[in-house]
Amino acid sequence: MPTKALLYAAEVRHLARAGATWGLRPGKVGFDFERVMARKDAQIADFAGYRRKQLSEGAFEFVRAQATFLDPERVALSDGRVLRGRHFMVATGSRVPAPSLAGLVETGYLTSDEALGLRRPPRSLVVLGGGAVALEMAQFFARFDTRVTVIQRSAHVLRGVDADAAAALEGALRREGIRVYTGTRLIEAKRSGRGKTVVFEHDGKRRRVEAEEILFALGRVPNTEGLGLERTGVKVEGGRIVTDAAMRTSVPHMYAAGDCTSPHEVVHLAVTQGEVAGHNIARPGEPRRMDYRLLVQVVFTEPQVAVVGLTGPEAERLAVEHIEANYPFNDHGKSLIMEARDGFVRLRAHRTTGEILGGCCVGPQAGELIHEIVAAMAKRMTVQELAVMPHYHPTLAEIWTYPAEELAERIRDGVTTENSR
Ligand SMILES: Cc1cc2nc3c(=O)[nH]c(=O)nc-3n(C[C@H](O)[C@H](O)[C@H](O)COP(=O)(O)OP(=O)(O)OC[C@H]3O[C@@H](n4cnc5c(N)ncnc54)[C@H](O)[C@@H]3O)c2cc1C
Repeated sequence: MPTKALLYAAEVRHLARAGATWGLRPGKVGFDFERVMARKDAQIADFAGYRRKQLSEGAFEFVRAQATFLDPERVALSDGRVLRGRHFMVATGSRVPAPSLAGLVETGYLTSDEALGLRRPPRSLVVLGGGAVALEMAQFFARFDTRVTVIQRSAHVLRGVDADAAAALEGALRREGIRVYTGTRLIEAKRSGRGKTVVFEHDGKRRRVEAEEILFALGRVPNTEGLGLERTGVKVEGGRIVTDAAMRTSVPHMYAAGDCTSPHEVVHLAVTQGEVAGHNIARPGEPRRMDYRLLVQVVFTEPQVAVVGLTGPEAERLAVEHIEANYPFNDHGKSLIMEARDGFVRLRAHRTTGEILGGCCVGPQAGELIHEIVAAMAKRMTVQELAVMPHYHPTLAEIWTYPAEELAERIRDGVTTENSR
């Protein structure tokens, strides 16, 4: 929520500055960064207050303390108490790991938590990492006049997402003036006068970028250190609590949910995992299991990137037989009205039945648009069904009908050996 609140502010400024596109004369669109941050803080305080109230007025006792396991039945609390439980659910989240980049600790760096608390934007910023958090932060600061450089190790940003979707976002970020380096190897960080320098290898050359600040966004690790799990017998691999589809750990009365166990750091999954674990503790006779078929991921940059189900890298890795078709936003009525020409939608479907196996969207409101495909996949709809479903005109959502129609026709005509990319 804090990053999304800030990104929305950044988008409003960006749109206002681009007003001439629609015949407006906005003049200079300045900003008061303290007030941008203050609005975010007030909103988060509101949400958090509401949640706190729900917890403390809930049908259970709410204890605020740091917990450590003494054994598989007892936790010691930082307020001196010891609690005994017949069941436990561990949901301790994730944390930023200690950086392994030589010199970074001595040079000083920001994590996303600290970046969210800044009272003025840095003049320049090097972002280490090219995942969702890194790119959202990069675009937010760039839209508040920070000179931003992104350094990503993989061949493209957003590892795990279709390469051309990532490329569409990279292109848009570069056009906004963000320098994006991919396929790099970080070498070291050091102080340079009043600034900070990151040295890295790119295209076989040694490069250096100097900036006022460095944002460390190379991923998070499960927050399980110091929890005393070794005294419980719960199996942990690389810091991650091992659970089965019922969210049960290797110790039958202990469960885990959220980032401390999940390979996908996403809020709605953490919530569902918690619900599944809670249900299985309360009603062992009617067990529930997690189903990751509808895994959704959204990056709230502009253009947004959203995927559900089967992705390109996964289809390749698992050699899933499928057909796919795309449609670009630069040929779609509503996105042209919005001057949102970057990106495309992609549908993946079963070769013969046409069942929708996955969706990918990079473009305007992708985080909203993907939910049409989530709903379709939840009900195991086919591209043939999606193609004839009514879509109001002109809307962004009607763009899905084009790849759906193309795939439906190809299945009808038996042309299912090639993908249209
Ligand atoms: C900058 C940023 C942006 C993100 N944006 C999105 C987004 O847009 N959408 C999305 O779906 N996800 C997003 N995420 C990921 C999302 O925040 C996590 O997936 C989610 O919060 C995980 O929930 P959780 O309950 O597992 O952990 P958390 O929300 O981290 O909660 C863990 C809780 O456990 C407490 N705790 C830890 N150790 C102990 C202990 N020993 N005793 C007692 N309590 C303890 C912590 O204090 C904390 O309150 C983002 C993450 C970051 C960092």
